[in-house]
Amino acid sequence: MGDDVTITLLGTGSPLPDPLRAGPATLVASGTTRLLVDAGRGVIMRLAAAGVVPIMLDGILLTHLHSDHINSLNDVITTFWVMSPTSRELLIYGPVGTTAVVDGIHAMLREDYGYRMGHHEDLNEGPVVRVVEVQPGDTFSVGTALILVGGTDHRPVEPTVGYRITDGGVSVVVAGDGVPCASLDELVVGADAYVQTVVRDDLVRLVPVPRFQDILDYHSTVAQAAETAQRAGVRTLVLTHYVPSPAPGSYDEWRSLASAFTGDIVLGDDLTAVTMTAVK
Ligand SMILES: [Zn+2]
Ligand SMILES: [Zn+2]
Repeated sequence: MGDDVTITLLGTGSPLPDPLRAGPATLVASGTTRLLVDAGRGVIMRLAAAGVVPIMLDGILLTHLHSDHINSLNDVITTFWVMSPTSRELLIYGPVGTTAVVDGIHAMLREDYGYRMGHHEDLNEGPVVRVVEVQPGDTFSVGTALILVGGTDHRPVEPTVGYRITDGGVSVVVAGDGVPCASLDELVVGADAYVQTVVRDDLVRLVPVPRFQDILDYHSTVAQAAETAQRAGVRTLVLTHYVPSPAPGSYDEWRSLASAFTGDIVLGDDLTAVTMTAVK
């Protein structure tokens, strides 16, 4: 077991297209275990930029099944399969409904699987994917990491979960989308780092389009993320999934909205990374 866990924001974007921000995806890596949380737009490119090819992943954790969080999952499945020298199982954990999504991806790729198996003699079976549907309160381990599942509140999207990943004395919570709630507080309490997807309510309110305003109902604002982090007593708050995309030079403005939190705040461009070391 290592003493460090590195969090890399692979994609800091949202459903709104941005040429510089990939979709939601976060890499949590300890010495020997690499977990991908969510698989939004462009995840394979950002993983490559972080020095990780899909076969180096030990597991995928999905927070929920909104398209922006899973729309490159098919690419993870395909590249993991074709790059593995021998048949290897890809582990995907996610809320109830994940099996149906993965079955749908298999159906979408059925022709592709056939082409590749027909062309490469050593590919004698399609991707081996094991889906584990999780519930709040579940615990499981992947490699050296112990993972606790917690409930989140992203209603009307249900079910949704967050993950507390503990390895080498460091705990990292990747919460996904949602508003503050008691079960999120419980998951985050005392963690070293807390990764929260956020929106700027002050900016979203300026756009008088109902479909855009709806975003505010079920996402944490920057201030709410800061309040959750402060209540939980975490060391580091990591903000991601920015709505809207931060204007150039505005990160300090975002940071100032999180003033309720007195610890370290991390936000930035895609591939921003922070390494948490266990407190001795
Ligand atoms: Zn969502
Ligand atoms: Zn989202």
